[in-house]
Amino acid sequence: MLKIAETWFELRRIDDDITLIFEPHVVPFLRCNIWHVRGRDRDLVVDTGMGVASLREFAKDILTRPVTAVATHAHIDHIGNHHEFEECLVHSREADGLRHPGGEQTLAGPDFDPTDLATLLVPPVSGYEVAGPMLTALPTAEYDMRSFRIRPAQVTRIVDEGDIIDLGDRSFEVLHLPGHSPGSIGLWEAGTQTLFSGDAVYDGPLVDTLHHSNVADYVRTMLRLRELPARVVHAGHEPSFGRERLIALADAYLENAEKQGYPAPSGTVSEAGE
Ligand SMILES: [Zn+2]
Repeated sequence: MLKIAETWFELRRIDDDITLIFEPHVVPFLRCNIWHVRGRDRDLVVDTGMGVASLREFAKDILTRPVTAVATHAHIDHIGNHHEFEECLVHSREADGLRHPGGEQTLAGPDFDPTDLATLLVPPVSGYEVAGPMLTALPTAEYDMRSFRIRPAQVTRIVDEGDIIDLGDRSFEVLHLPGHSPGSIGLWEAGTQTLFSGDAVYDGPLVDTLHHSNVADYVRTMLRLRELPARVVHAGHEPSFGRERLIALADAYLENAEKQGYPAPSGTVSEAGE
């Protein structure tokens, strides 16, 4: 019998404009970072968690402007509360996941049982437990984990490489960062050297063995990320980090991919500092 959580979300202010929200009672493998960026005219929400409890209601004190909700990709741990937002942005290769959740793209096919994560469309991932219930507490006494469903969201804008998301006083450029999933995107603000990276890179075991992962794409993404002059990376999971760690994570991935026989695209490795 799981206990009832006192509060479903936790909130951590990073600076004047950026806030991290997360769900401490979701198991680590699915515990997504939800990012809120306050803009002059609009707010940005990057990913929305599992949708087990209302993000809008929890964050109402900081969601005081119109909200642009971005999905870095359509895996279930990132899109659960998009249905609460009027404006949702996603890459074309992930849009169906938002519109029609519960399919392969979200990793929760028809046989997904929330009480056993082994039923997700995910092969074993070293470093994360992918078995057992998805929650370690319940949001309310009435909540039935078996009734868990991702609700469909309205896709109002399809974005791709180079598109700009304008908040009035700050703006983010869309980077297409495939590999983990085909339409994974990051958001880059050159002025502050800030990257929201989704699952393209985070400081934990990366996942490139899903049915729609692509290691060759991931290699190109990592070569690109290690050249990005990022001061801080706010990722889809795990703690934020700086440039040095970004390069170390990219290099670790590239080294491992090379061992599996994925050579870097020619001309890029020597440039990258050999
Ligand atoms: Zn993912």
